[in-house]
Amino acid sequence: MADIDRMFSPRAVALIGATDKEGTVGAATLKNLLQGKGKHTVYPVNPSHEVVAGLKCYPNIASIPEHVDLVVIATPAKSVPEVVEECGKAGVDGVVIISAGFREIGADGTRLEAEISAIRAKYGFRVLGPNCVGFARPSIRLNATFLKDSPEPGSIAFISQSGALGSAILDWATVSHVGFSLFASMGSMLDLDFGDLIDFLGTDPNTRSIIVYVEGIGNARKFMSAARGFARTKPIVVLKAGKYTTGAKAVQSHTGALAGDFEVYDAAFKRVGVLRVDEIGDLFNCASVLDSRRLPSGPRLAIVTNAGGPGVLASDKVTDLGGELAKLSDTTMKALNEHLPPYWSRGNPVDVLGDADVDRYELAMKTLLVDSNVDGILAMCTPQGVTPATDLASMVVKESKDKHKPVLTVWMGEKGVAEARRKFAENSVPSYSTPEEAIKTYMYMYRYRRNLDLLYETPSEIPVDLMPPNSHLRLMVRKAIADGKLLLSQADADKFLDAYNIPRLGGGFARGEEEALMIARRVGYPVVLKIVSQDIVHKSDIGGVIVNITNSEMLAHEYSKLIDRVKILKPEAKIDGVYVQRMAKSVDYELILGSKKDRDFGAVILFGSGGIGVELFRDFAIGLPPINQVLARRMMEETTIYKALSKGLRNRPPANLKTLEEVIIRFSSMVADFPEIAEMDVNPLSVVEGKVFAVDVRILLDPKPIDRSAPYPHMVILPYPTKYVVPWKLEDGTDVLLRPIRPEDEAMESEFINGLSEETNRYRFFNIVRNLPHSDLVRFCNIDYDREMAIVAEITEGGRRREIGVGRLIAEPDRRRGEFAVVIADQYQTKGLGRKLVDMLIDIAEERRFESIFGVVLRDNAPMLSLCREMGFSVKYEEDYAHVELALRVSTPQSSAEAHSQPQPPAESQTKPQREQRESPADIAQ
Ligand code: ADP
Ligand code: MG
Repeated sequence: MADIDRMFSPRAVALIGATDKEGTVGAATLKNLLQGKGKHTVYPVNPSHEVVAGLKCYPNIASIPEHVDLVVIATPAKSVPEVVEECGKAGVDGVVIISAGFREIGADGTRLEAEISAIRAKYGFRVLGPNCVGFARPSIRLNATFLKDSPEPGSIAFISQSGALGSAILDWATVSHVGFSLFASMGSMLDLDFGDLIDFLGTDPNTRSIIVYVEGIGNARKFMSAARGFARTKPIVVLKAGKYTTGAKAVQSHTGALAGDFEVYDAAFKRVGVLRVDEIGDLFNCASVLDSRRLPSGPRLAIVTNAGGPGVLASDKVTDLGGELAKLSDTTMKALNEHLPPYWSRGNPVDVLGDADVDRYELAMKTLLVDSNVDGILAMCTPQGVTPATDLASMVVKESKDKHKPVLTVWMGEKGVAEARRKFAENSVPSYSTPEEAIKTYMYMYRYRRNLDLLYETPSEIPVDLMPPNSHLRLMVRKAIADGKLLLSQADADKFLDAYNIPRLGGGFARGEEEALMIARRVGYPVVLKIVSQDIVHKSDIGGVIVNITNSEMLAHEYSKLIDRVKILKPEAKIDGVYVQRMAKSVDYELILGSKKDRDFGAVILFGSGGIGVELFRDFAIGLPPINQVLARRMMEETTIYKALSKGLRNRPPANLKTLEEVIIRFSSMVADFPEIAEMDVNPLSVVEGKVFAVDVRILLDPKPIDRSAPYPHMVILPYPTKYVVPWKLEDGTDVLLRPIRPEDEAMESEFINGLSEETNRYRFFNIVRNLPHSDLVRFCNIDYDREMAIVAEITEGGRRREIGVGRLIAEPDRRRGEFAVVIADQYQTKGLGRKLVDMLIDIAEERRFESIFGVVLRDNAPMLSLCREMGFSVKYEEDYAHVELALRVSTPQSSAEAHSQPQPPAESQTKPQREQRESPADIAQ
C-alpha cells in the first residue's frame, strides 16, 4: 500500500472535474488548490476543456507529464470507478473522492464503492472519502477541499467524519483564530479511516494535538492501536455523536442490556488515553490546553477574583462539575492575611476585592502558585470602574509563564476586556468568557492527565495461568453451536469456571429427583434448586429458583413444586432438569461480571453491582480485555459499590480486592480465548465472608461463523501473545524462559538495565543510561504487541526471577520493515542467547510479513556485528554506526500488491514507531 505521507505532502496534484464554472465544487476546489501554487504543481483535468483558470487543462491523468502524487476527484459518482482505474494505471499515491452518491444513496452507490475498493486494492493507492469535503494542510499551503475559507495554519489537527459539521467548525475557528496543521473530512471511509490519520499525525511535527469528530469509528482495532501509540504524546480529543442511541437491543444478558454504545465508546477511549468531550466547544478548549505541558496533577483548584459574587458562582460550578476547591495552606493564609486588605474573603475563592490593583492581584497569584495544596488556578476579573483589566492580564501572562501549574483565565465582559483576551491568546494563556467553560476545561485537563497516569501505572503480578487447558471447552462450544444450543447450561458453564479457576459453589445437574437428592447430599444442605432449560434465560422471573432447602424431604417436595410451577408459567419451555447448588449463607455483596461482543469494539467486560437489581441500579464499569491488575482495579473503582467493597458497609466486612482482581483477570482471559461467546453474565458473583463465588453463570454463544484467519478476531487490543513463550537453555545448560515483555516487568527491566556494564549499556543506549524513570520504563514494558514486540529472557535464581536479556522489534510506519535491537546481560553473553533472540525476532518479522529487518549497531560492537554477519545480515558502515539489514522476501510490485490484498491482521494497521518518543539514536540499538 502506498505511504500516505506522499498523498498528504504532494508535489503534483491533479483535479479531475476542474472547471471555471462559478459555484461548482470543481471551481471551488481548483481555486483552493491554486493558493498553494509554488509549493506544489496543480494540473486541472477535464476532457471538455483546453484551458481552466488560465492553465492548460489535461484530458486525463495519463496525459499529465509527471508523476502525480495526489488526485482530487469531483466528478459524478458514476464516472468515479473509471477515473480511479486511470489513477491506478498512472501510479498515483492517493485519491480524494469528493463526489457524493455512494453508499449514502443505497444499493447502487454501495456497488460503486465496492468497485472502487477492488480497483484500489489492485493498485494499492490510498483513498480519502468518498462523499467528503477533502483535506487541507495549512502548514504546507495545501488546500484540497471546496471550503469557502482556508483554515489558518496552527498546531491542531482536526479530523471530522461529517463534512458539514467540519466546515461549520472551521468557520467558527477562522473567526476565533484557531489554526490547524491539518483538516480532513473522512466521508464514508472507503479506505483511510481514523486510525490511518492518527498514525500519520502522530509523527507529523506540525501537529501537537488531534481533535476528532466521530460518528462511527470504522476499523476499531486500527484506531485503538494508533491512538494508544500517540495519545500520550499528542492529546487526542474526541467528540462522539449519538450519546443516546444504543446498539441493537436483541440481547439476553444483563451485560448486553447495560453495555450500550455510549459506555463502550467511553471505555475504549479511556483505555487508550483518548479524552472524550461532550460539546463542540470543548473540542477546541481542550485541544489548545492539553498540548501545553502543564496539566494539573490534581483536582484542587484555587480561584482568584476581584469580585465576590462571580467567585462564589464559580466555586459552585467547581462542585457541580465534580471538582475540588483547594484548601489553602497555612503559609498561604498567613501571607494573604498579611498583605491583603482585612476584608478579603479569607479562603478560597480568594477575593482580592473590587479596588484591587495589579500589585495586590499579583501577590495573590504568586502565593497560590507556590501553595502545594493548589493544583491549578482560575484567575477571574470583572472590570469595575478602576480595574486595570489589560494590565492585570499582562501580569497573569507574566506570572503563569514557565510554571508547572495551569492557570486559566476568565475576564468577564466584551469590549472592556478584548485587549486582555488578545494578550492571553497571543501568549497561549487559556482564556474563557465564562467560569463554567474554564472549570469544565480544567476538569478535562485533570481527567486526561489522571487517565494517562492510571493507564500506565505498573500492574502488580497476579499469578494467573494464561494458558489453562481448554480444548475440552472448545469442543463443547463447537458442538453446542452445531446443535443450535446457544445457551450453555449451568453445568457446562461450570466447566469454564473450573478451567479458568474461577471459584464457584458446589453443585451439579440432575435429570430427576433421585439425582437431585444425591447431589444435595454431596454438596451439603442447605441447597438451592434451579430450573434448567434452553428456553429459560432468567430463572427467578418465573419462580425457577428455590433457595434455602434444608433437608431431603423438603427437597423432594420443592422439586415437584418447581417443575409443576414452571410447566404452568412457561408451558412451551422444554425442561431438561434442575441444577442443585450449595446455598451461600451470609452473602455480603452481590456483584456482576459479564462480557459481550460490541459491534465496533468487540469483546468488552462489565463489572458492577449485581443481583436482581442490576438494570435498575446501573452501577457498572466497562473495560476492554485483556485486563491486567491495574485495569481490573480501575474498573472496580469506577463503580459505586467499590466504596463498600474496599471499606465494608455497616456490619459487612470489606471484600478481598486482590481476589476480585484475580477473578476479573481470569474472566478476561476466558473471554479472550473464546470468540464464540456472544454474551456472558456471572450474576451474582457473590462475596461471602471475604471469599468470592460465581453463583449463576450464563453463557450465550454466537451462531455466526468466526473468522479465524487471525488470532483474537473479537478483540481490538491484542492480548499477551502467549505463543511466544518458550522455555530454552543457554549453551551452559541454564534454564531460560523466553517470553514477551509485560507491563508488570518494569522493576525487572529497570534492574536489568542498571546491572549492565558500561560497555554493554553504551552499546544499547549509545551513552550510559541508568535509573530510567517510570515514564521511560513504561515505554519499554507496556507495549502494543500489534506494533512492537519485545522478548525477554528470564532465569530463576534462588527463587527470584531475573531478566538476563531482551530483544525488541518495532514496525516501521508502513509496516514493511522492522527495526530490531538485542541486549544481553554481561555475564550471560557468549552463551547463544543473542543469536536465539535475533532468530526469534526474524521469525516474528517474517510472520508479520515484513520485507526486511534492520538495526543500527555501534561500530565497535564487534560481537553483535559478527553475529549479524553470520546470520546473513548485510552490514553498511556509516560514521560511528553500522546499519545491518536482512531481506526477508524478494519484493516485486506484483507480490506486494498481493500481500496487501490479503487480510493481514494483527499486523494490518499502518503504524509509525514512536520516533519522537525515542532518545534517538541511542534507542535504536538495543
Ligand atoms: P436467575 O438470575 O436466572 O434468576 P440465579 O441463579 O441468579 O437465577 O438466582 C437468583 C437469585 O437467587 C440470585 O441473584 C441470588 O440472590 C439467589 N441465589 C441463587 N443461587 C444462590 C445460592 N446458591 N446461594 C445463595 N443465593 C442464591
Ligand atoms: Mg442470576
